[in-house]
Amino acid sequence: MKKQLTVLFLFCFLNSYSQKNYPDFFYVRTTDSLPFLDYGLGEDRLGGAKMTFLDSNIVLRVVDSTGDKYKVQLSKLHSAYVQKEKVYPISPIEYDQHLTNSWNVYGDSLYDYVTIKLDERLPYRSMMEIHPSRIVLDIFGAVSNTNWITQLSTAKEIKNAWYEQTEDDVMRVIIELKHQQHWGYRIFYSSDNKLTVMVKRQPAKLDLSHIKIAIDAGHGGDNVGATGIASNIKEKDYTLLIAKELTRQLINRKAKVVMTRVKDTTLSMFERIQFLDQQDPTLLVSIHLNSSSKDSISGVSTYYRYIGFRSLSQAILKSMLQTGLRITLTV
Ligand SMILES: [Zn+2]
Repeated sequence: MKKQLTVLFLFCFLNSYSQKNYPDFFYVRTTDSLPFLDYGLGEDRLGGAKMTFLDSNIVLRVVDSTGDKYKVQLSKLHSAYVQKEKVYPISPIEYDQHLTNSWNVYGDSLYDYVTIKLDERLPYRSMMEIHPSRIVLDIFGAVSNTNWITQLSTAKEIKNAWYEQTEDDVMRVIIELKHQQHWGYRIFYSSDNKLTVMVKRQPAKLDLSHIKIAIDAGHGGDNVGATGIASNIKEKDYTLLIAKELTRQLINRKAKVVMTRVKDTTLSMFERIQFLDQQDPTLLVSIHLNSSSKDSISGVSTYYRYIGFRSLSQAILKSMLQTGLRITLTV
């Protein structure tokens, strides 16, 4: 009996020893190559469902590995996947609880901002909501220690900003907007670990002469896109033709227009986003010609990713149908 207990004790000791020395997780930080989190391991031709893009230098806890992706634990109840090439390993850090500091809500001549001081670059995800129009931001690993939210009258688009500690290790930031229409936002860390949500305001005048429109001719160069089965036309050629004509029409109506490409150039998604970030247009329209394996599907369609942009997508579809284009869709 005594022997058995000793063996059991030794086993427990070895077990705890090995856990201490060989933890089944490690930490990484994101690089500056436009890293993003995926919800799961699903793949489609657009690369799987993305949870969010992330800033650089964000710390992530890796708990598993599969193929070219790591599984990362964002909080006790939430996990996601990140591409291995978008992160680099770091030495172990203290990562149990991160307290938030004071907030500021303010505006400058162009944008509104919410800034939250943190002691580490924690991961986050955001959601766009409508009716009422809100930006909801979850900060993983953050625990509220915020006493003050300073809201200055220089903020023009942000109506309200507050938080809820929705889980022990998830702090939710809610930003309520004045206008029903969303115009976009950007999330990043400034140099002193200040998590910043930069909110775009509604343009002062909603006519074409006061807005800047980006036209993205899909594909190009090595990336041919779809090919017409009977006509043999290439998507990359026709997206450019349509983009050029649309640009001409918009300039005639006094809009300021920028194009992601004007020739048969190869452009990665990363390069397109970098260009659009610099240009900071009011609207972005990306042009594609889809193919379908079903004869019963033809005509025009519009797409959106974030619910706040459905109204633009619907307005464009309505206009296209008024020109005589049709939709034929048999599901
Ligand atoms: Zn396409």
